[in-house]
Amino acid sequence: MLRLPLSLLCCLLLIHCSDSGGPAPDAGVALELAQQRSSAVNNVRYELSLSVPGSVAEPVTGNVAIRFNLLDSIQPLVLDFRAPADHVLDVRLNGAAVDHRVTPDHIVIPPAVLSIGEQHVEVSFRSTDTALNRQAGFFYALFVPDRASTAFPVFEQPNIKARFSLTLEIPAQWQALSNGALLSRDETDTQRHVLKFAETLPISTYLMSFAAGELQIETAVRNGRELTLYHRETDQEKLSRNLSTIFDLHATALNWLEEYTDIAYPFGKFAFFAVPSFQFGGMEHPGAVWYRAESLFLDPTASRTQELGRASLIAHETAHMWFGDLVTMDWFNDVWMKEVFANFLAAKIAEPAFPDLNLDLRFFQAHHPAAYNVDRTAGTNAIRQELDNLNDAGSLYGAIIYQKAPIVLRQLEQLIGEEPLRNGLRQYLDANRFGNATWPDLISVLDPLTEQDLELWSKVWVTAAGRPRITVERVDGGVRLRQVAQDSTSSLLWNQPLVLAVGTTEGVEEYGVQLQEAEAFVAVPGEPVPTFVFAGADGIGYGRFVLDDSSRSALLESVGDLRSPVHRAVVWNSLWEELLDGFIPADAFVLAVLAGIERESDELVAQQLLGLLRSVFWQYLDDGERRAVGASVEAVLWDALGRVFSPGRKGAYFNALVDITITEAGIESLRRIWNGDEVLEGLPLQEQQFIALAEALVLRDPTNADAIIAAQAERITNPDRLARLNFIKPALGGNTAEHAGMLASFADVAVRRQESWVLDAMGALHHPIRNEASLSLLRESLDLTEEIQRTGDIFFPLNWLNATLGGYQSSEAAAIVRQYLDENPDLPERLKGKVLQAVDDLFRAASLQ
Ligand SMILES: [Zn+2]
Repeated sequence: MLRLPLSLLCCLLLIHCSDSGGPAPDAGVALELAQQRSSAVNNVRYELSLSVPGSVAEPVTGNVAIRFNLLDSIQPLVLDFRAPADHVLDVRLNGAAVDHRVTPDHIVIPPAVLSIGEQHVEVSFRSTDTALNRQAGFFYALFVPDRASTAFPVFEQPNIKARFSLTLEIPAQWQALSNGALLSRDETDTQRHVLKFAETLPISTYLMSFAAGELQIETAVRNGRELTLYHRETDQEKLSRNLSTIFDLHATALNWLEEYTDIAYPFGKFAFFAVPSFQFGGMEHPGAVWYRAESLFLDPTASRTQELGRASLIAHETAHMWFGDLVTMDWFNDVWMKEVFANFLAAKIAEPAFPDLNLDLRFFQAHHPAAYNVDRTAGTNAIRQELDNLNDAGSLYGAIIYQKAPIVLRQLEQLIGEEPLRNGLRQYLDANRFGNATWPDLISVLDPLTEQDLELWSKVWVTAAGRPRITVERVDGGVRLRQVAQDSTSSLLWNQPLVLAVGTTEGVEEYGVQLQEAEAFVAVPGEPVPTFVFAGADGIGYGRFVLDDSSRSALLESVGDLRSPVHRAVVWNSLWEELLDGFIPADAFVLAVLAGIERESDELVAQQLLGLLRSVFWQYLDDGERRAVGASVEAVLWDALGRVFSPGRKGAYFNALVDITITEAGIESLRRIWNGDEVLEGLPLQEQQFIALAEALVLRDPTNADAIIAAQAERITNPDRLARLNFIKPALGGNTAEHAGMLASFADVAVRRQESWVLDAMGALHHPIRNEASLSLLRESLDLTEEIQRTGDIFFPLNWLNATLGGYQSSEAAAIVRQYLDENPDLPERLKGKVLQAVDDLFRAASLQ
C-alpha cells in the first residue's frame, strides 16, 4: 500500500470533512489513524468506572472521563470502541452533550466542535464481554493487543500512554485487583461494594487491567518489598508447597533486573493473579501480572525442566516491567522486541539457580526445535513484520518471535559483547522511560558499539524470513560448508559463527568458522578418517544442518555414544529433520529413539526423545505401524520409568505412557492405576494427572466414557477443573453426533470463550487415535479459523489449527486442507501463513506415504 505524506492526507480528509462529516474511519486502528492521533493527542488521563454484576448474564456498564491535551483540531477526534452502536449511551464534550457519530469500532466527534488545548470527553457505555473473561465466580480483563476498546472507549494504541484511575463496583463478597493499589473500599451496601484504585503511571492501553471474584489473597515481604498473590486454588497442600518459591522467584528477578538495567522497579506496587486455565503463560500488566495457575502451582512430580520453566516464566513477566512496560514499542510491528528481551533476560535470571541443568542444552531445546517448526514451513514469517492495522496485531505472535528472536539476540550479544550490550540497553531504557521506541532506535544505540554492520545484519536476521540450508562436504584437507536460503527464491546469506563437529575413532573435535559468504572451508586433519561430521554443534548456530549420507547412517547408529549432551540434542534434531525430508523412514527412526531412551542418562535429552517419540508415533506411523511397535514402545517406557528415582523424572515417562499407550495390556495397567488398584512407587499422582488419565482412558475405551467421566467428576475437588471436564466431555466419548454437535456449537463466540477448554476439546475430537474417523469435521473446523482469528486471543488461531490438524496424516486429509486453501484465496496473508505452519506435518506425512 502506498502511504500518503501526512500533510497531504490531512488536506484530503479536510475536504471530505466539509460535507457529510467525513468518511467513517477504517474498522480497527489503521496505522494512519494511529500516526495522526499520536501527534494530535497527549497528556491523557482516564477516569474509568465499571459496574460488574456477579451474574455473567447481566451486562457490565460504565462511564469513562477522558482528559487530554488536543494539539490539532483539524481532524475529527476518533475514539475506539468495539461494541454495537447501542452500547454507546451518552457522549459529552467539556460537560455538554455533543454531536457525534458512532461508526464500526469508533466514536467520532467532528472537528467543528473541537478546540485546541485541554479537553474532557465523557462517555457512558455498556461493555462487551469480549476481553473480560467472565466466568462463574470471577473475571479478568485481558486487553493485549487491541481489546481495551471492547470494554470501554479509549485511544487504543501503544504510543498514547495514559494514566488510568479505576473504580470498580462488584459483588460484596468479591476481591479485586488492578494496576494501581487499592485506595478504598466502600462497603455501605450489603450486596455491592465500590473499590477505588490509585492512578497508574503512564502506561499503554494493552497494559491496563483488572480482575475480581472470589479470590484468596497471600502476601509476602521480600527485600522490603510487598508482593501479593491472588488465586483460586483450593488444594491447600499444593498451595503451601509452592508459595514461598513463587515469592522468592519474583524477588530474585526484581533485584536482578534493577541491577542489570540500573533503574529501580518503576511501578511501585507488585501483585499477580494465578488465573485458572489462563490462555497464555503470563501477561505483564504492571502491578497486576496474570499467570496461568497451572504454571505456578507445580505438582510434586514436576520435573526440573518444569521448575526452570516456572522460574523463566516469572523472570520473563518481571523483565517486561522494564522491557515493554516502562519502554514500549511505538507500534505492534515491534512487539517482538519486548518478547525477545524478556526471554533473553529471563534466561540470565532464572538459570543460575539450576546449576545441575546443562544450560546450553536447555537453550537449544527451548528455542531451536520450536523455531524450526515454523521456519521450515511455507508459512514462515520474519521476526519484524509490517502491520497496517492494530486489529491484525494478534497474528504477529508465534515461535519466530518467542523462539527464533532469542537465538538471533544471542548472536547479537556475541557480535557486540555482553557488557557493551548491557550498557547499550541501559542507555536505551533511560532515554525512553515511560515512552515508546522502535527497533531502529535501538540499532542506532548499538551500532556504534561494534565494528559489524548491524543494519545489514538486521536485514537478514530480523526483517527477512526463513533459515539457511547448510550442507557439509568432505574434501581434501577439510570440510566445505555451503549455505543457500531454504526458500530457493531468495539469495540471502546469513552471517553467523558456526561450530563443526568431526567424529573419529578417537572422539569428537570441534572447529569454529564464521560463515558469512555462500561457502566456508574448515581445515580438518585427514587422519584418523572422520566417521561423521555435523554443523551447528554448539547448539546456537541456526539453520537446516543437512547430514551427508555416511554421517546420517553413522549418527543414526551412534548418536547415543556422543559424550556431549548438546551434541546429542543437536544430532537428534538433525535426524528428525532428515526424517521430515524423507531421508530416514519413520519406523527406523522409532527404533533409534527407543534405543536412545534405553540408554539416555541426561534428563533434558530424555525429554527431547520422549517428544520426538510422540511426534513420530502419532504423526508419521499409521495405525498398523503403531500396533506393530506399540508393545515395545510401552515396554521401553515402563522400563525407563522403573530405572529413574525422582518423581519429576518418573513423571516424564509416565506422562508419555498416558499419551502413547495403545495395547490392551497397557490400557489395563493405566486403568488399574486410575482406579487406585495399583500405586506407582515414588510417583505421587495429583488430581490433574488422574484427570489426564481418565481422559486418556475414555479416548481408548469410548464405550465406557460415561462411567469413567462420572467417576472422575465425583473425585474432583476443584470447581474450575470440574467445569473443564464437563465442558470437554462430549469430545472425549465416542458419540459422533455429539462430536458434530460440539464443533457446531463452537461457531458461537460465547461457547468458545474458555479458549484452553476449547483447544482440549478440539484435540480430543481430532485425536489420531480415532484413525481419522473425524475427517468429516475437518473442513468445518478449518472454516471457523477466520472467525476464531477475529474474536479470539493471540495464540488461539494457530493453536486451533494445530489441535485441528495434528491428528491427521492421510492424503485425504491433506486434500481437504488444499481445497480449503484453494477456495479461500483471500485469506489474510498471515492467517494463511498459520495454516501452512500447522499443516506442514500433515503435508509431509501424506507425501511420505
Ligand atoms: Zn512476554
